Amino acid sequence: TKLNEESLPHLPASLSRPLYDRSRLTTGIVHFGVGGFHRAHQAMYLDRLMNEGKALDWAICGVGVLPQDAAMKTVMDSQDCLYTLMLKHPDGVREARVIGSIVEYLFAPEDPDAVIEKMADPATRIVSLTITEGGYNISDTTGEFDAASAGVAADLQPGAVPVSVFGLVTEALRRRRDRGVAPFAVMSCDNVPGNGEVARKAFGEFARLLDPELGDWVQESVSFPSSMVDRITPATTDADRALLSEEFGVEDAWPVIAEDFEQWALEDTFPQGRPAWEDAGVNMAADVEPYEYMKLRLLNCGHQALAYLGYLAGYRYVHEAARDPQMAQFLLDYMDREATPTLLPVPGVDLDAYKRRLLERFGNEHVRDTLARLCAESSDRIPKWLVPVVRENVAAGGETARSAAIIASWARYAEGVDEAGEQIRVVDNRRDEVMAAAGRNREDPLAFISQEHFFANLSSDPGFAQEYLSALGTLHRSGARAAVAALVDKA
Ligand code: NAD
Repeated sequence: TKLNEESLPHLPASLSRPLYDRSRLTTGIVHFGVGGFHRAHQAMYLDRLMNEGKALDWAICGVGVLPQDAAMKTVMDSQDCLYTLMLKHPDGVREARVIGSIVEYLFAPEDPDAVIEKMADPATRIVSLTITEGGYNISDTTGEFDAASAGVAADLQPGAVPVSVFGLVTEALRRRRDRGVAPFAVMSCDNVPGNGEVARKAFGEFARLLDPELGDWVQESVSFPSSMVDRITPATTDADRALLSEEFGVEDAWPVIAEDFEQWALEDTFPQGRPAWEDAGVNMAADVEPYEYMKLRLLNCGHQALAYLGYLAGYRYVHEAARDPQMAQFLLDYMDREATPTLLPVPGVDLDAYKRRLLERFGNEHVRDTLARLCAESSDRIPKWLVPVVRENVAAGGETARSAAIIASWARYAEGVDEAGEQIRVVDNRRDEVMAAAGRNREDPLAFISQEHFFANLSSDPGFAQEYLSALGTLHRSGARAAVAALVDKA
């Protein structure tokens, strides 16, 4: 059965579906970046509330701004914005549920004004974002907003019709201010440390460049709650579509697949109100910072620890690397000895149990998360996630050998050829410069970490540089398994 509003009552009983009347929902949230993660996480939490008869005035209007989002527009239109979330438990159990909390989808390049008016509508009280780590245009070393990128530069031209998320959101805020409508809260759900403050900086700076007065107003009057979000959500494959059709009898052009684990800690600063998220299991913590650091430095950096080394060693799936005893030990050592000493106390969380659970989650073979997904956009990830861990440890006299090896494994991966001599498809918005630096690894082994916009002055720290050179040397001479073994054995 093809999934849409009409077929909903006729779907097989094995599939959970919305218990609420979708025609009675009204939009309260506009979301930018409707990809896998948003559909597995935020939209799922809302759907859960709606099933209890709550949050019926908080339905989501999705927005795509990039040309490739036209594909999501087509699917959303053909399925009345319905889609299936299939959860894969570590024991192989699969659950599928149709999510109904997204009720509209707008493709900004087609009609930017419709997107702006949707946000200017007083009924919209939250604008949320999953626009990727790199989407905020904040430099990792200077902390400044980069106004030179293509979409932003165009949006700053006088009289421009907005194309970027910055242009669209700022114009909507301007209209609200001019019409005497209170601003919506801007909620970043991206994996960026201090994502609320980063979003405030980015949107505030953009608005200031457009109109200084508007910039001040955005900085002062708009709320930017921070959040920690967690649920491993790999990209959807055709095999997933086929599985859903065979096992649950539904034809869904773009289902979303995720692990069973879910977590969300959210700062409770929503002046225009919010859904009763706490009733759906969200931790409405006053201070989410400790949770963010725990998640970014253990889970996200942990993924980076497995990604390049695992790929170079010939693995292609995350569970394969996580189940390799040496790699698992390397990961644990990184978590215990380098990440954990940099964390703040996390209220109500047993860190050892959290780490054990992470190893289990990474080892979930059914999720089939790929190392290639984790190896993508490294230049938006390593500098934001791992470099701060190294800098804190260097400053505190802590250990850095495993972090140095993770960075060396990125440098080796970015050479573009794996240990079997196969080409690697390096996916990175700064691919050319990253590969050019990696291309010099053998003649100038510090070339890669001398890229100051990623690593600041780390290459001039003798201890760290030595560890990095040692790992890169082993990677070149003997490969990833040997580089991992050298560190595990030394511990
Ligand atoms: P995805 O590729 O499925 O979707 C990304 C969406 O963001 C797409 O709609 C894309 O067009 C849009 N986008 C990308 N760059 C943009 C930009 N500069 N401006 C506006 N829109 C932009 O990816 P996903 O798995 O949904 O992940 C998105 C983000 O969610 C991640 O970058 C991460 O910060 C966060 N996240 C993901 C996971 C996960 O497991 N996938 C877990 C936690 C957090």
